[in-house]
Amino acid sequence: MTATRIAPPAQGAPYLLTPGPLSTSTATKRAMLRDWGSWDADFRAMTRDMRARLLAMLGQGADEFDCVPMQGSGSFAVEAMLGSFIARDGKALVLANGAYGLRSAETMRYLGRDVVVLDKGDYLPPRGDEVAQILAGDPDITHVVAIHCETSSGILNPIAEISKATYGAGRKLLIDSMSGFGAIALDATETRYEALASSANKCIEGVPGFGFVMARKTALGAAKGNSHSLALDVHAQWAHMNKTGQWRFTPPTHVVAAFLEALRAHEAEGGVKARGARYGRNRDVVVAGMRDLGFETLLKDRWQSPIIITFFCPADPNFVFARFYEAMKGRGFIIYPGKLTVVDSFRIGCIGQMDEHVMRQVVAAAAETLTEMGVTNAAPPLAALKERERLAA
Ligand SMILES: *Cc1c(COP(=O)(O)O)cnc(C)c1O
Repeated sequence: MTATRIAPPAQGAPYLLTPGPLSTSTATKRAMLRDWGSWDADFRAMTRDMRARLLAMLGQGADEFDCVPMQGSGSFAVEAMLGSFIARDGKALVLANGAYGLRSAETMRYLGRDVVVLDKGDYLPPRGDEVAQILAGDPDITHVVAIHCETSSGILNPIAEISKATYGAGRKLLIDSMSGFGAIALDATETRYEALASSANKCIEGVPGFGFVMARKTALGAAKGNSHSLALDVHAQWAHMNKTGQWRFTPPTHVVAAFLEALRAHEAEGGVKARGARYGRNRDVVVAGMRDLGFETLLKDRWQSPIIITFFCPADPNFVFARFYEAMKGRGFIIYPGKLTVVDSFRIGCIGQMDEHVMRQVVAAAAETLTEMGVTNAAPPLAALKERERLAA
């Protein structure tokens, strides 16, 4: 048993039950109390170490990949990935079932590149046979873009079958694994893909400030000249970094230092598997506890990721989300509003410096808050349950 010691946030700050920025450890925050010269050998060694540690997380197929950090938030890394690997005359099929899929599609439009979207609504998973069918009917599509864990609902999309359908049709797969990488394994020897993007402030539990693209070296080599953007050119960043050991433009030095500390903690915890297992326990405790209170989850267990959970707001007229939010915050927990279009919902994140003991306190805080609000029944409106029935299909 590796008992991960999770210390409460400093200075009475609330836990962030949000999918990034999230609660980070004191050691990770402390690592920022020093300044580094971006060109200095010490910082170059830190960049090298960070890239090697991230690559090691890919498992068996790591040799064929390289890691390219990119300044900016996660969306900058996704935009860099799309603009660098999809040629200007390429065409993407974006698989959307939530805000992040739609953002990738919008990014393609900004880039002026051809895109078709399979929009599954708020939370239905895009399936392999649907992808195969669209690809068979459209030979111009060069790339499929998939979201690993769609953070707006918490659904874990079936990447393995999407990959099979994509490469079965001779096309290439790019993955937004922002909220999956580091906790949900994506072994490239089992699931083929060209590149994935993630960022510092999700499952590795760093502070926000940069993203990274993990890509096949063959794809990196072929990406020269594709990018629409100087700053977001993954090929140029990769070539420069491999030649000089430096980032092309000012790196977020303190964020990198914090991230390295977070990477060491990730390894000490037991790597991707152990991190995913802790998040899985967090999810299980919250789902079971909230269901005991009468809450219902949007997703059936089959599709529920260990990253974030969407709950329907109770139908009880005494339930007012803004009050629930403030009362939870008063008890030390920042929750997350929902993003569904049809029914009211809220989300509870499972990632960050939290363990099952903290999650039990979250459930207890929710129980107290319901009592305080005079909500006797946390069951959602019938319309919400009907909507969810569509998932059973
Ligand atoms: C967090 C996240 C992003 C990036 O969001 P930023 O706010 O730009 O960091 C992209 N995709 C998914 C699935 C995410 O969870």
